[in-house]
This record gives sequence, structure tokens and C-alpha cells, in this order.
Amino acid sequence: MGSSTKYIFITGGVTSSLGKGIIAASLAKLLQARGFSVTIQKFDPYLNIDPGTLNPYEHGECYVTEDGAETDLDLGHYERFLDTPTSQANNVTTGRIYNNVITKERKGEFLGKTVQVIPHITDEIKRNFFKLGEDGQFDVVITEIGGCVGDIESLPFIEAVRQAKWDLGQNNFLVIHLTLIPFLAAAKELKTKPTQHSVKQLLEAGIQPDILVCRTEYHLPQEVKKKLALFCNVQLNCVIEAMDASTIYDVPLLMKKEKLDERVMSKLKLTSKTNTDLEQWKDFLGRLKNPTQEVNIGLVGKYVSLPDAYKSIIEAFIHAGAASECKVNLTLISSEELHADSIPKKLEGLDGVVVAPGFGERGLEGKIEAVRFVRENDIPFFGICLGMQVAVIEFARNVLGLEKANSTEMDPDSPDPVIGLMEDQKNIELLGGTMRLGSYPCELKKGSKAYQAYGKAKINERHRHRYEFNNAYLKSFEESGMFASGINPDTELVEIMEIKNHPWFVGAQFHPEYKSTVLTPHPLFVRFIKATIENKKTK
Ligand code: GLN
Repeated sequence: MGSSTKYIFITGGVTSSLGKGIIAASLAKLLQARGFSVTIQKFDPYLNIDPGTLNPYEHGECYVTEDGAETDLDLGHYERFLDTPTSQANNVTTGRIYNNVITKERKGEFLGKTVQVIPHITDEIKRNFFKLGEDGQFDVVITEIGGCVGDIESLPFIEAVRQAKWDLGQNNFLVIHLTLIPFLAAAKELKTKPTQHSVKQLLEAGIQPDILVCRTEYHLPQEVKKKLALFCNVQLNCVIEAMDASTIYDVPLLMKKEKLDERVMSKLKLTSKTNTDLEQWKDFLGRLKNPTQEVNIGLVGKYVSLPDAYKSIIEAFIHAGAASECKVNLTLISSEELHADSIPKKLEGLDGVVVAPGFGERGLEGKIEAVRFVRENDIPFFGICLGMQVAVIEFARNVLGLEKANSTEMDPDSPDPVIGLMEDQKNIELLGGTMRLGSYPCELKKGSKAYQAYGKAKINERHRHRYEFNNAYLKSFEESGMFASGINPDTELVEIMEIKNHPWFVGAQFHPEYKSTVLTPHPLFVRFIKATIENKKTK
């Protein structure tokens, strides 16, 4: 481990979904604003090697990093807050830990020893805890432990945290426990007991939290803080209130007010490298909270009952909206409920439509009809990954007259496979980690909407898909007004399709949403919002 790197571990208690990721990202932001280089990693207790094969209904969106790792959506928050890229090393699951240990065992690396949870699994966990701190690149590594204290499956992680304290030594190790202080309406009281219990569980595992961050709907009176300090064995000024916020982007400022960064720095013996600089962040919040206009955008997809499935897209609209001081009212529309006759009613009143990424056939026809409607009615359209593929299928069917055009994902026997697998992909049988993943270069055509948005020709964007535009059809598409405005210069794969005579119709094979951050809103989202504002004006 890097000797000067400080390690902060964040555990959660009482219930899941308290927002450990946001607290981790907010603390990291505050430390970054004081001149420290910080990274955040997440350790997830489930047995999947990565979340790539998880249904978004189970676990929300799968976030993809530059190096093509399929990761937990909290990594998206880390990047959006810090504006620095994460990688595979920032997300480790129990599945990956066991896989590593078992692979070593098969290679005979344990010299005839019995391989056990302690020390072999915990050693492997710690090796991964310390990886990002090894080269001295980071002053602080924050580790979020997924799940709740007391869960059977997170025990080895908690045990590894206990051991890490001794490996790291004094002033290099800190535990923050995130917990909930519920308000009982009948008793009109904030209750500390669940927190006492979850801290007891941590203590049983040998871990004394240094700081408690308490999620609450109401301000914590001083007596409540005192009680928590007394029963949980923490300093009174280390009981930090985390009130519900109107936007997650307020949380760094709320944590600053509560002096979370100062407590952390004093416990880790860190001295600020610079004065706290949050000016740009505050500018963003100012624009976000004082919009001068608003637009209505429909997001058509199949996972609409769980908005977390589209987390990065939703956040990218918040960033892009703020850039134009525009409130974006995003409505999630289930593609399964869209039919040719219901579409005008469902989509009227929208200033722009996005067709979301996705897998499988369900809801495909509804998406195709939605694209037809916006193409024919000059409504701004933004297709993302599957959304771009749907736009291509729609154009093939309704403009080129190829009635049975399809993606071979939906119809392997389509006579016109306008979207299909590349030759070298056709023999792949595994599903996990077999997609085109991560960052690839793309070259934009001058004069296109995409070029206008980025303001340059060479870009890199992240991918997560198997199927591609079939270049055998490119000429007929281009002759009829839909052209490739972005091409991968190495492989000739089509990355962006646009329609010429339309106010704004852009489909991207990649996922621009993964690269949108608070301080660098994504140019395609920004331009799309501008197009929807224009569209609204001309109505
Ligand atoms: N299902 C499509 C593919 O695999 C699109 C994937 C996506 O939208 N991420 O190519």
C-alpha cells in the first residue's frame, strides 16, 4: 500500500438506499476542492463477477468506465461529482474476489494449504482495497462497502476493514458509518435505537466507527446528537447530520456546513493544500435552481418502473439543462404502451424524445412507432445505443421501404439485417463481458449536428453493445437522407447516424450519458436541449 495514502471506509447501517455513494462522492468532492487527489471505489457483496449480466430492475443501471468495466451505478456518481475517470479497479464484487482466489488455488499458489475465508479471502479483499493507493497517485482512497452491516454476505468485507486498520496504522485509516435516524410520527420523535444497534453490530465485528453520518428528515437536536455520541462511542462533533436534500448536488455543500471534511482531515492529520474551491460547483447549482425556461422531454424505454435503470441519462439531462438554465421535465414512457394510434396523444406536448438503450425485443415496435412520429413531425430526437438502432430500423422500414428490416438481435432471420453482429462476433457464446465495451475513437463529419455539438472532429465515447450498423446498407441510407456523421476511424463502424432535413435527429451507437459530469455537461445532451428549446419556441 502507498505509505502516504489515507484510506476512508464507508459502511452503511439500518437500511440500504441511504445514499452511501452520494456521501462518498460528496466527501471526495470536498477533499478534492481542498487540493487533494481522491478516488472512490465500491466493494459489492454479491456473487456476480460484475453487474453486467444483472437485470436493471434488480440493480439499476450498469455503468461503464473508460476501460470497459461494467460497474455499479455509484461509480457514475463518483465520476459526475469528481470529473475524474474510474476504472475496473474501482468496483470489486465478492464474485470477483472468490474467482481470483479460486483461480490462484487451481494454479497451486497456496502450497498445499487449506484455503479459507480468513486469511485468503480477506487478504484478497485487502489487496484490492489497497490497489489504487499503490502508486502514490491518490492522497485519499475512499472505499464504499455495499450492503448493510449485519448482512451475512458483507461479513468478509467488514472483517477485511477491521484488519486494514492494523495494516495501515494510525492516522491513515478512518471509518464513517452512514445510518438512518427515523422520525416516528405517532411519537413525534427522532429515534436513535436503530443506529445504536447497527453500531453495536460494527463493534461486534471489531470496528469502531470514527464518524457517524445520520440521514434524517428533520434537524437533529443537540440532545439527539449527544445521545448518539454517548451510545455509539463517537466524539460529539463527529455526529454529522445529513438532511434530505432537494438535489443530490446540494449534498457536498450540506456536508461542508456540517464540517464533515474538517473532521475527516483532523482525524487523518491532513492539512488543506488549497483554500476550498467550490465556485464552479456553486455556479452549477445556481443555474440548476434558477431556470429561466423549461422543456418537456419523453424518455422511451422498457425499464420505466425503476428510474435507476436510466440513472446516467437522467443525471446527464440535469447537467445539460443547467447549462442552458432550463428545467428539464423528463417523463419516462413505457415503450410497451406505445401503439401507432395512441402515440400522437402520448407524445404530444413533448418538446423532444429520447429512445433509451436496452436489450431484447420487448417494446421494440412501440419504439419504432415513436421514432416514426418524431421523424415525421420534426420533433427533436436523440437515440442512445438501442435508440440509434431503432431509428435505423424505422428509417429502413418506412423510408427505404424494407418492410422486414430489423436487428438480428430481434429477428435473426430478417431479410434486411440493417443492424447485426460483426463477423468476428458470430461465434461468441458467453454472455458476460462479451460486448463492445469501453472507450473507442470516433471521427465526426464536418457540418453535422454532432460536429456542431462537440466543436471538433476527433472524440472518444464509451460503448456497451453487441450489435452494429450494417455497412452494406450505408449507401442507400445516405442517398435517402440519413447519414453516418460519426465513424470509428479504425474499424469503419458507424457510431452516429443523423437525418439531414430535420431540426435535430441524432442517434449514437455509444453511451454519451456515461461521460456527462456536473462541470462538463455532455455536448450532445446540451445541443439536444437547445434543439428542444428552439422547437418549443416555433410551436
Ligand atoms: N441491444 C443492443 C446491442 O446489444 C443495444 C445495447 C444498448 O442499448 N446498450 O447492440
